[in-house]
Amino acid sequence: MKVRVAVVGGGLAGFFTASELMEAGVDDVVVLDRNDQPGGVARTVKLDGYELEPAAGALLLPKPDLTPVLEHLGAEIVPAVDAAMRYVYARGRLNVLGPSPKVMFSHVVSWPAKFRALAEPFIRTKPASSDESVDAFFRRRFGKGMGGTLAWLAANGVFAGDPTRLSARAAFPVFSALEDEAGSLVLGGMRRARKREPGTPRAKSHVPVGGISALAERGAERLGERYRPGVTIESVRRTNGTWTIEGSESVEAEHVVLAVRPSDAATLVNGELAEALNRAISAPAVIVGLGAESKRLPLLPGFGALTGPDAGTISLGVLFESSYAPHRAPAGHSLAKVIAGGANHRDVIDWDDDRIIDTVQAEVAKILSIDPDPSFVHLVRHRTGIPQYEPGHRAWLAGIEGLCEPRFHLTGWGYRGVGVGHVATDAVRIAKDIAAA
Ligand SMILES: Cc1cc2nc3c(=O)[nH]c(=O)nc-3n(C[C@H](O)[C@H](O)[C@H](O)COP(=O)(O)OP(=O)(O)OC[C@H]3O[C@@H](n4cnc5c(N)ncnc54)[C@H](O)[C@@H]3O)c2cc1C
Repeated sequence: MKVRVAVVGGGLAGFFTASELMEAGVDDVVVLDRNDQPGGVARTVKLDGYELEPAAGALLLPKPDLTPVLEHLGAEIVPAVDAAMRYVYARGRLNVLGPSPKVMFSHVVSWPAKFRALAEPFIRTKPASSDESVDAFFRRRFGKGMGGTLAWLAANGVFAGDPTRLSARAAFPVFSALEDEAGSLVLGGMRRARKREPGTPRAKSHVPVGGISALAERGAERLGERYRPGVTIESVRRTNGTWTIEGSESVEAEHVVLAVRPSDAATLVNGELAEALNRAISAPAVIVGLGAESKRLPLLPGFGALTGPDAGTISLGVLFESSYAPHRAPAGHSLAKVIAGGANHRDVIDWDDDRIIDTVQAEVAKILSIDPDPSFVHLVRHRTGIPQYEPGHRAWLAGIEGLCEPRFHLTGWGYRGVGVGHVATDAVRIAKDIAAA
């Protein structure tokens, strides 16, 4: 088969890129994926009337790239309910943090830590290294108590990561940018708020109707026969200016897009690029869905609760799935989604099911002060894990980009941001580049 563009990988990154290519008038495209179902890690589990999202559960919208990408797919998106309500289990109790930044009034950190945090706008220290960790960055800005806690929550909430081993600039570029712009996160945030066009809506959590996998399914429908499920690719080589993509199907293409994680991309290419891709780091995580009649599993309104640095749990957070997305549980029932393991508990991925479920259930009981007796339990292991943008990530990425030949693109959550919005931004950029080539 000969095509203009071959996309390897049918996760959200692959479908977003192919759909944006079609939007830009490039119809001669195929998406090749080894799975039989579209969506990659973001494949909704629909069982016993529950909808469990093993990966992305909510999308922040509107966003300049994600909003049009979803519109082009024809995805139906609805606002999440009360998702600004957030909680933190710290210092032995559940604390309300949202919708406004109530951390200053909560029990999450001590009073001395709060007073030190108030000095943030006046802190003029420079980072000890040009690629400091998330932990070092937040401690430098807000002090040890508040900064250490914020770093922990941000690293756990987004990366299931260790804040001492994530790069502030790579993992949370928005915070570094605020400091660069105004010398302070607080002042930078206020400056940006003043500059916002009146009437510009703030991004809020939304959920796709039919589950996150509906996004990939809409992509598959849009692509029709251009989507080739059940095709495992083994190598990608350039010969005489054309890309030869070989595996259980063979394709020749002018452009190739590898929308697979870096460790998978490494198996398809050779030499220095393969070596560099193999250096990508990730942390395994386990998702446990717990469902029950709402009287047995009473969930608070809101998005969910993260666990603080002193919680001592393998659970990094409990998401109140049926509170912010009521259709995810049958009527009269609740669904909680627990994310466990991550960079600080790498061994959990090898625990047996019963040990994980018993531990997580006991932790949910402690965090929410309830006695859940779930009638629905479902566990998903992300063994290859969540990408970790450690210090050096940006230099690694720049090195990889320098090794890419013309008409060869790498995308997905392993590179320029782990969220669905980042993947959409990549899709728009790559589609524009290819359409213009
Ligand atoms: C627990 C968890 C919670 C998350 N929560 C959120 C959230 O709330 N909001 C948010 O925005 N994001 C969230 N994310 C991130 C989001 O899910 C990812 O950004 C997104 O799903 C990544 O998509 P992808 O296409 O890059 O990768 P993948 O989904 O990994 O897709 C890669 C695809 O490539 C295929 N493939 C690999 N190698 C080959 C090969 N050799 N041949 C053929 N096919 C191949 C695989 O089968 C797979 O289908 C979360 C992720 C996790 C794990």
